Amino acid sequence: MLPTIPARIRLKQLFARAFVQSGAPKRRARSDMPSCRILCYHCIGRSPTHYFSLANRLCVSPEAFRWQLKYLRREFNPLSEKEFVRRVSDGFGPRDVLVTLDDGTIDLLLEAAPLLSEHGIPAVAFVCGDPSARISWWFDLAVLIDREFASKAPRFRTRIFWSELRRWKELPRVDRESEWQVRATRCGARGEEWPELRVLNASEIGDLSAAGISVGAHGFAHEELFQLNSDRLESEIHRSVDAVSTATGESPKGFAYAYGKRRHLNASADRIVKALKLEYALTTQWGFNMGPCDRYRLERIVIDGTDDRNTFIAKLWGGIWT
Ligand SMILES: [Zn+2]
Repeated sequence: MLPTIPARIRLKQLFARAFVQSGAPKRRARSDMPSCRILCYHCIGRSPTHYFSLANRLCVSPEAFRWQLKYLRREFNPLSEKEFVRRVSDGFGPRDVLVTLDDGTIDLLLEAAPLLSEHGIPAVAFVCGDPSARISWWFDLAVLIDREFASKAPRFRTRIFWSELRRWKELPRVDRESEWQVRATRCGARGEEWPELRVLNASEIGDLSAAGISVGAHGFAHEELFQLNSDRLESEIHRSVDAVSTATGESPKGFAYAYGKRRHLNASADRIVKALKLEYALTTQWGFNMGPCDRYRLERIVIDGTDDRNTFIAKLWGGIWT
């Protein structure tokens, strides 16, 4: 049974359609200011379960990604990481765009890299150093809800998933993991049921780099940095940078903060990133980067699996901010 599209996503798509049909993108294009839109993708592939694909938003289908790359090639100026770093200092041009992909899951090698190469679009992948990193605890939560409420309708499970997600967000990682252990044991769920989202190992990170994708650091084990004491924080960032250097033979230029919202960022992490001579750092705070901007707090536009073509266009032209 197919799940229904949540009302707020339908609303977003309707709003985007009205925005595009009104001709706003074309008008805005005529007066576009120099800036860099940094797009943030996660997985390029199918979401492991259908009901969850509408809830998690992380997986953009290869078909949608292909269309989006064509659009970027036609309407924007996709930058390589090298050009991007230069323009962070010298100033952006009109319609500059940088494609970034977070988490370093296997689909980057299987799906994203060939499509990027086919369309001649450079990109930066921000990877975890630890191949056993649990990048997305919400996938584990989805497994759990699927098992615990197996007899219930997908719609019901989605509702439970979202309410549990809100609660789990506030829990420290250790509490979340111990709760997961207890509940998973009770219902027979396991944490390794997402082969599609397996994190790349060192040799695969090397392959990604050989395929022409620039590689940046995203934390060693995808920890929430603000929850770590200073020693663990230092280790999480240092080991992640070392892992990229070892895998690719080059020091990473950039760092993307895991989770990356304002509440996940702090001055201690900034200090470590700067001390490591990384040249820029990315958040997931929403925004275009215009004029002089803080190179260690660059903002991004998150593209997700519920973005239809109009929504994608509306996000790029400032019609949608979520
Ligand atoms: Zn991440």
